[in-house]
Amino acid sequence: MKPILENLVEMTGHRDHLRLEVSVLSTLQKLPTVKEVRALEVFQVDGALHVRPRTWVEQGQLVSTQAHVAQSDARRQPLKDFPALQQCIANRAATALHSPQKGVYTLWLPVWMHEDVHTCLEITQSRPFSAHKLDVIKSVFHVYQNYQSLLDYSERDALTGLLNRKTFDEQFSRQVSMPSAGATELTSPGDASLAAEEPLQQWLAVVDIDHFKQVNDRFGHLYGDEVLILIANILRSSFRGQDRIFRFGGEEFVVLLRSTTLSTAHKIFNRFRLAVKEYHFPQVGQVTVSVGFASTSRGAPVEILGQADQALYHAKEHGRDQVLFYDELVEQGHLHTKVAHDDVELF
Ligand code: GH3
Ligand code: MG
Ligand code: MG
Repeated sequence: MKPILENLVEMTGHRDHLRLEVSVLSTLQKLPTVKEVRALEVFQVDGALHVRPRTWVEQGQLVSTQAHVAQSDARRQPLKDFPALQQCIANRAATALHSPQKGVYTLWLPVWMHEDVHTCLEITQSRPFSAHKLDVIKSVFHVYQNYQSLLDYSERDALTGLLNRKTFDEQFSRQVSMPSAGATELTSPGDASLAAEEPLQQWLAVVDIDHFKQVNDRFGHLYGDEVLILIANILRSSFRGQDRIFRFGGEEFVVLLRSTTLSTAHKIFNRFRLAVKEYHFPQVGQVTVSVGFASTSRGAPVEILGQADQALYHAKEHGRDQVLFYDELVEQGHLHTKVAHDDVELF
């Protein structure tokens, strides 16, 4: 019992989902008779659920792969290849047991979060799970799941459910340094030739609602809040699972687009802008947004954010309801890069 308690203390000391995952796996791995533990990522591809291993043990060490490569991971398999797990998720059940052959017993524990499953723990033994073993595993899992949802709650904005500013500050520098190689380009078939020529990059966009103060002034704060919630929903449906959306401030949002070309990024941001423009907001009617974006491939996080912000303010000053790209504004002579002094850019 003591080692498990020590592991629980270690597990709940983490403030990061992936480290927490590694920690719960290492706790479960230490249970006698457990042969293998893995964390599977559950995600959609073309409307069908798929799984792929995200964290597992290799030569005695727990290894984790980056979450954003899920779509292109060669190890991904359709969920329908695992009927017991598929049925468990469809029935919203807590666990599934499976024994494909004698000597192989697998237990699946889906992690339910906001009515969805994005992660599933998998534990394999060479003998059946005893009732006692199941109890111990489920207890460790419940501590993990409770802690996971507390962590999730602290990362999100209460009004919109989007990731909050604190999470952006913590995650952005990490994501900027991630290589985009190995990721898939998810464009429409017509974009195939463009995708082959243009490099895949990550992009940061700052989105700001136009004349939002007027919405509050004319219709009241509650309607203003409703607009924020609806725009958050449009944001969620406009971007892919591997992209990240943050509520950055009052009526300002930040989107991190992963591994795509400049022309696709432009298209995706514009499609979002149009989706907002075409949406009928109850009582309020039409609302528009302005977007400024920059590549995350050059400069420190603060510089990248500054560039997207400069593009946004140019959009605000020149008619609003548009998407502008920082580099293009610089090329056209509308914006000037900040003067560098001793390699430190001043803001
Ligand atoms: P611009 O087109 O230049 O962006 O004009 P704007 O009116 O959108 O910008 P401004 O910065 O003047 O006003 C932003 C407003 O957003 C002011 C503030 O009261 C409102 N706001 C910020 N957070 C919230 C919120 O959580 N709920 C509501 N209802 N309003 C908010
Ligand atoms: Mg605004
Ligand atoms: Mg603003």
